[in-house]
Amino acid sequence: MTDGSRTAVVLFTRDLRLTDQPALSEAVRTADRVVPLFVHDAAIERAGFATPNRRAFLGESLADLDGGLREKGGGLVVREGDVVEQTVSLAREVGASAIHLSRDDSAYAASRLAGLRDAVGRERPVVEHPGATVVPSGEVEPTTGDHYKVFTPFWRAWSEVAWRGVERAPTRVELPDGVQAPPFERGPVVTGTAPERPRGGFEEGERLLAGFLDGRLADYPDESDQLARDGTSRLSPHLHFGTVSPRRAAELAMARGDEAFTRQLCWRDFHHQVLRAFPALPRRDYRDRDRGWVEDDRAFEAWCEGRTGIPIVDAGMRQLLREGWMHNRARLIVASYLTKEVRVHWRHGAEFFLAHLADGDLANNSGNWQWVAGTGNDTRPNRRFNLLRQAQRFDPDGEYVRRFVPELSDLRRPEVHEPWRLGAGELRRRGYPEPLLPAHSPDGASTIPGL
Ligand SMILES: Cc1cc2nc3c(=O)[nH]c(=O)nc-3n(C[C@H](O)[C@H](O)[C@H](O)COP(=O)(O)OP(=O)(O)OC[C@H]3O[C@@H](n4cnc5c(N)ncnc54)[C@H](O)[C@@H]3O)c2cc1C
Repeated sequence: MTDGSRTAVVLFTRDLRLTDQPALSEAVRTADRVVPLFVHDAAIERAGFATPNRRAFLGESLADLDGGLREKGGGLVVREGDVVEQTVSLAREVGASAIHLSRDDSAYAASRLAGLRDAVGRERPVVEHPGATVVPSGEVEPTTGDHYKVFTPFWRAWSEVAWRGVERAPTRVELPDGVQAPPFERGPVVTGTAPERPRGGFEEGERLLAGFLDGRLADYPDESDQLARDGTSRLSPHLHFGTVSPRRAAELAMARGDEAFTRQLCWRDFHHQVLRAFPALPRRDYRDRDRGWVEDDRAFEAWCEGRTGIPIVDAGMRQLLREGWMHNRARLIVASYLTKEVRVHWRHGAEFFLAHLADGDLANNSGNWQWVAGTGNDTRPNRRFNLLRQAQRFDPDGEYVRRFVPELSDLRRPEVHEPWRLGAGELRRRGYPEPLLPAHSPDGASTIPGL
């Protein structure tokens, strides 16, 4: 800027909020004018990561962010194409003295940062900020260096480090003269979304967070595993897109005496530091184990459609298709069925999840799939769920199955979890499949008694 004022660019990525957004706060503190930028990144499109549920969530979140910035005197500049080229050309256009962005842990985020730094050279600093996790990856390290491979010691160390302060939303965010930020246009309606998918935006995130803290948080330790209760926060897509700050959520929960929910946020941080240390996590076994995977298209398709004939598995998969979200206990059950009973490679399951989850997240998705498959951070890699016992324990009345599997909606226990007891003719009449035998289970035995 020729008038002597300082301008900074804030590149928003998956940190789409104003409160506790350290990159934005620092830009506002150190520059007179700030250009908030979002780039619809061609590389993310090409990688197939912008699937309908996440694309719709993103559109709502950007609209909210733009609205929030307008209230503060600014607006969101939206571009599309190569994120490095677009950011650097805008920074040059406005004569920015710095580019700020949130630190992220994937291989792609690392290459984006390197690309930005290469492109601007020494012209202007590219500054990374915390905010994507409660504690930035790498800040909690074992004494031996590297990263934590097991959760419990990570949790202990994580609970003891000093956390940064929570940032307030800036009061003003002013664009430089001559920079246009036309009102955000959402574009055509996204098709192919789940009918009851989560809604995006920081206002919706705030509503969910406040409702959860004042309501279900108190019962979270007892209720969060119960499939039919809505006992969890449903904040995962908001944490993925940053419409809720994990740091602030942890602080607010702990102020209410919570430990159980905060522990889950710590699991999220755990998987992020694993991804940073092992960037191939979405593609390669974290621990090399020959699991003897099988190709079984029929079983995989039945799993994808929620037609395996095992009600607790089908209910989980149908929740995913209906809501673009699935309860954590159901995720564990369906992933265990696929990788340990049918023995289809975890990568196929993880890809299907990423295609449908609004919260689809490289660190959490691959970390958890590998955990269940026994190739990841579980200290008991051969752990195997008894699917029927899981159903009886976490859906004791069969309410979750009845909600998502209409073919069984009139059944009670025991048939609701074991409909094969009704006989093949009755199953046919209801249009519900006979159970797909887990023919490939390692020892030939099934975890479902009677099958
Ligand atoms: C096979 C499998 C795949 C998964 N894929 C994803 C994914 O793509 N994206 C994703 O966000 N979560 C994933 N999870 C973790 C977990 O199931 C979801 O985060 C959780 O169900 C989201 O619901 P919630 O927000 O109501 O969770 P809450 O119980 O309210 O927990 C609060 C937050 O803690 C974090 N969290 C909870 N459980 C875990 C966990 N096991 N690992 C890491 N973080 C956790 C999430 O950010 C969550 O929003 C996966 C789990 C499994 C078993």
